[in-house]
Amino acid sequence: SRGTSPVPPARRPRLTVLSGPSGVGKSTVVAHMRKAHPEVWLSVSCTTRKPRPGERDGVQYFFVNDEEFDKLVANGELLEWAEFAGNRYGTPRRAVLERLEAGEPVLLEIDLQGARQVRASMEDAQLVFLAPPSWDELVRRLTGRGTESPEVIERRLAAARTELAAESEFDTTLVNTSVEDVARELLALLR
Ligand code: 5GP
Repeated sequence: SRGTSPVPPARRPRLTVLSGPSGVGKSTVVAHMRKAHPEVWLSVSCTTRKPRPGERDGVQYFFVNDEEFDKLVANGELLEWAEFAGNRYGTPRRAVLERLEAGEPVLLEIDLQGARQVRASMEDAQLVFLAPPSWDELVRRLTGRGTESPEVIERRLAAARTELAAESEFDTTLVNTSVEDVARELLALLR
């Protein structure tokens, strides 16, 4: 009728996906942001990878065995999952949907294959690509972690080479020149 103005679309809470090559510093950026803003909810993934020193079950990951992971997949309990460098990783679906329904923003820190699955199943997800300042810097970071065998590093470099090419599929790119800057930019995108 006359006089009615179009109703703006409801501001739905969004799912934000932070992805990018392994070793680019995704988890460092997220950890930095959450130190200042612990209220930002981050999904805890399930993985078949063995814990690294200092990692705790239920904090960095839920550490599960192959059989348990199979079951999660079969029961449709994962929003997305992928195999990365010989291990499987997946996002528990229920916790994510509960947060979104409660009106809270949700952040996933996952690999590229997972980001593609989220894009396919949740159209309004915001995909953020974290890019290294340069290829040399990425190699330096992947090699310098010191926790992985040469074979594992080689596999991760191969994956990173492919992953860098995927930037164009993303809504936004953040270049990881400074952890502080990128954490601030990510927080702004979440809000
Ligand atoms: P890392 O073993 O170094 O902790 O993680 C290896 C890769 O797996 C990283 O790129 C990380 O973002 C990704 N990853 C962690 N959790 C998930 C997940 O739930 N799903 C997917 N697809 N990738 C994940």
